[in-house]
Amino acid sequence: MKRLQAFKFQIEPNGEQIRAMRQYAGNARKIWNLALNRQQERHTAGEKFTNSFGMNNWLPAWKQEFSYLCDSPSQTLQQVTKDLAAAYKNFFEKRADFPQFKKKGRSSDSFRFPQGFEIDEANRRIRLPKLGWIRYRKSRGILGLAKNITVSCVAGKWYASIQTEREVGQPIHPSTSIVGLDAGITLFATLSDGTMFEPVNALRTRAAKMAKYQRRMSRKVKFSRNWKKAKARITQLHQRVAHTRNDFLHKTSNIISKNHAMVVIEDLNVTNMSKSASGTLEAPGRRVNAKSGLNKSILDQGWGEFRRQLEYKQAWLGGEVFAVNPRNTSRACPACGHICAENRKTQSQFECVECGYAENADLNAAINILRAGHARLACEVNGAVMPSATGTHRSDSRMAQCHA
Ligand SMILES: [Zn+2]
Repeated sequence: MKRLQAFKFQIEPNGEQIRAMRQYAGNARKIWNLALNRQQERHTAGEKFTNSFGMNNWLPAWKQEFSYLCDSPSQTLQQVTKDLAAAYKNFFEKRADFPQFKKKGRSSDSFRFPQGFEIDEANRRIRLPKLGWIRYRKSRGILGLAKNITVSCVAGKWYASIQTEREVGQPIHPSTSIVGLDAGITLFATLSDGTMFEPVNALRTRAAKMAKYQRRMSRKVKFSRNWKKAKARITQLHQRVAHTRNDFLHKTSNIISKNHAMVVIEDLNVTNMSKSASGTLEAPGRRVNAKSGLNKSILDQGWGEFRRQLEYKQAWLGGEVFAVNPRNTSRACPACGHICAENRKTQSQFECVECGYAENADLNAAINILRAGHARLACEVNGAVMPSATGTHRSDSRMAQCHA
């Protein structure tokens, strides 16, 4: 099996290289915005989506109009149309929101080389087209064949992420267990075996600090030295939050992935989940403020990234992640099968109105998710045709519903 892996290092460019890289990143952003705008105009005019090859045909005219675009290595601009096409695909397939315009300083600056680079591990340096040799801080060896290099800037620091590919044997997962996983708000994750993971809510704990600096920034004269100081502090805080969260996601996905060969999760569309703010299901008609608070909390947890990590770690270990229809997992009784909104007494407590079975609501959901996983595995074993690997939408006819 092919294993893809990214190796990210901080790089140490000189002043001239930094100026060039800033421009390449700015040009990449420019192309993104131009292409996105053109796609939207075409859409309004009733025309079809243009793929990356089609978008690349727009590049020469833009280079004539904005001559600074010519300073960028052409391949980095073509990579942008490829990324935009991928963003559209994710949107069409409901995995992501509609692509956004990129603003200077807001989205992280980056550009990518698919070829023409050189890696000199012995001397800890890489050579990039038009930029020349740049030293990097070596923290680990690079495994596999390098396929591309993405250069990015976060809070004034530059990084190179080297994407590699290598052939590895098909692994056999050390464990044989299967577990259901319920993703929550009060608890980050609950497993059907009773394991619970507390959330970090890194952003929330630092929210007060963040607000302080944001107030401070708003009181300063824009672009003054003190304004810049406050702004830098906010950027730094954001970076720490991201780091803490990422660390947590990796640790949690490691533990789950090592202990279970199969992890059954709910097929929630993360972007939808944060938008509709499950309040609609559990307590309809919630205030917008409450919703935005929940939004923050969900986004803070990084579900999309967590699922991604879990999936690739399972693939590496020879395990599997599969998603089942989330329908009724929080309302069904595992003891008698009764499905009813009243079963969920509170956010944290489940109690069946039919048979009286009571359990922690998150654990109950995890058990139902595991059951849905078993049911699907049984179907696959019996050779029944399943609609698709993920996103199956079928209701369990065995169970009667008292609330639509
Ligand atoms: Zn029951």
